[in-house]
Amino acid sequence: AKRIVVKVGTSTLIHPNGKVNFHAIDQLCYVLTGLVNDGKQVVLVSSGAIGVGMGQVGLHERPESIPAQQALAAIGQSGLMSVYQQRFSLYGQRIGQILLTHDVLEYPLSRQNALNTFNSLLEWGVIPIVNENDTVAVDEMDHHTKFGDNDQLSAIVSSIVDADLLVMLSDIDGFFDKNPHKYADAKLFERITKIDETTLEAAGGKGSKFGTGGMMTKLKAAKRMLENDKMMILANGQDPAIIFELIKGEPLGTLFV
Ligand code: ADP
Repeated sequence: AKRIVVKVGTSTLIHPNGKVNFHAIDQLCYVLTGLVNDGKQVVLVSSGAIGVGMGQVGLHERPESIPAQQALAAIGQSGLMSVYQQRFSLYGQRIGQILLTHDVLEYPLSRQNALNTFNSLLEWGVIPIVNENDTVAVDEMDHHTKFGDNDQLSAIVSSIVDADLLVMLSDIDGFFDKNPHKYADAKLFERITKIDETTLEAAGGKGSKFGTGGMMTKLKAAKRMLENDKMMILANGQDPAIIFELIKGEPLGTLFV
């Protein structure tokens, strides 16, 4: 795989107590820099802005109000980018920030402009760091986009840049037949080739306290990838060095192919 999109969830970047997980971010920066130095073109889709914003403002619960979440995202986004900037620069890796909305695919000119930006950055060996533009993204009437859903955004980014592989890192080892946080006997799917009603049923509802997507949005992302004949791997991001193993083809997590 030459072009790789990596998506990290809030649960990988923020500790359950609300503090930024500097160790995970540092590891992630180290690993992604390694991939670039190995000749790969890497895009990072990073959640965590609202979580970082909550920490900066001193909130422990995610507020219900969308405008409050947007404000926290605005505060947290620059905080998050400054952490990335600092950590990536330790490894000599340059980054650029790209903020997108889910409807980018519906506007050919926007899509082309996004692609042009990605292409230039990637050719220069820069890692684009993508997040949803939460200030303008809110459209509660539009049911196919959801505020804060970077899982589907990462699949959209994959299709814009025509990535061969989407690596999605979460707080869980992969996709199970039921939620392993609720059922001790949940079984991991190693390989999924089709996403149908039964698959979606296993995904249940929302996930962690700070995350927003849960398994459902991850499966929708996988569905998009499969429709485009591309691969997705869902794996545990607790130790981001797992990406090295995944790229080598080690059977860790769930492979959607
Ligand atoms: P992230 O912040 O990494 O995007 P989320 O918290 O949004 O993560 O989603 C992951 C969570 O989805 C898991 O921790 C788990 O609680 C929940 N989940 C629900 N159903 C399943 C399932 N069938 N397999 C795995 N995880 C599931």
